[in-house]
Amino acid sequence: MEQKLVDFSAFHSRLRVTGTLHLETALRIGAGGGGGATEQDLPVVKDLAGKPYIPGSSFKGAYRAHLEALLRGMDEKLACLSTDTAARFGGPGAVSGCLSQGDVDKLKEENRDNPAELGQRILKASCWTCRLCGAPWLASKLMVRDMPVVADTWFDRYLIRDGVAIDRDTETVGAGLKFDYEAVPAGTAFRFEMVVDNATGVELGLALLGLREFEDGFVTLGGGRSRGLGEVKLEVDWENGKETWLVTRDGLRAYLLDRTMTSLADEEIRRSYWKAFLDEVAKGGKSDA
Ligand SMILES: [Zn+2]
Repeated sequence: MEQKLVDFSAFHSRLRVTGTLHLETALRIGAGGGGGATEQDLPVVKDLAGKPYIPGSSFKGAYRAHLEALLRGMDEKLACLSTDTAARFGGPGAVSGCLSQGDVDKLKEENRDNPAELGQRILKASCWTCRLCGAPWLASKLMVRDMPVVADTWFDRYLIRDGVAIDRDTETVGAGLKFDYEAVPAGTAFRFEMVVDNATGVELGLALLGLREFEDGFVTLGGGRSRGLGEVKLEVDWENGKETWLVTRDGLRAYLLDRTMTSLADEEIRRSYWKAFLDEVAKGGKSDA
């Protein structure tokens, strides 16, 4: 893994958010790889006890993709241009919203003797999504823990469904293309925990906007979305100030002294962060990088 280039020694903030993720429809997050003869064709991810869980990386991937789409919808210049998208957009420089690996290599060459300057330039040129969720050359500020199943919503029963692979050329069901897949039933719930370390006020606004999309049920998880799988709703513990809280630079002393944290129960406080982000985007700036 390449060395991360940004120095986070200056404290901005720490945000911790917990909640419960409810499955509105069945969920299918595949375990990948082949199973044994007694397993279904396509098993879901399970813990060592055989219970389902949602890998933090799966949640984060969906969260990130949704933020990217949201930002691109607001303005094409806010689109990400990390490694895999660079090719689609015609290579480095085709979109000004973010860096490609080629851009990063060039910046490294130009700032060979000045790592601090390099870190700043990379940060300034990276898109909002990469600044919050990371890129190969930028540490992520946002972490989602693996999400265990809520015990009293789990009855030890997976769904087995018939899947039918559609031949993409003829749009017909091909012979021998039927398969079974496993899914976690609707009604199952998972514990959620996200920590965002050292985000600026503006970046916190973006992080909180992303969470609101999950609260409103606009983000799907896992596979089979076209078949209606993976609809989820996040219920955040906003009211529980011991679980969900924010510490900013201004409040750091009080936090260290008495563990005093800012409650996010009041939506007006959250709104002030959304607004800071939307205002910054509207004026095209990244002033608090
Ligand atoms: Zn990006």
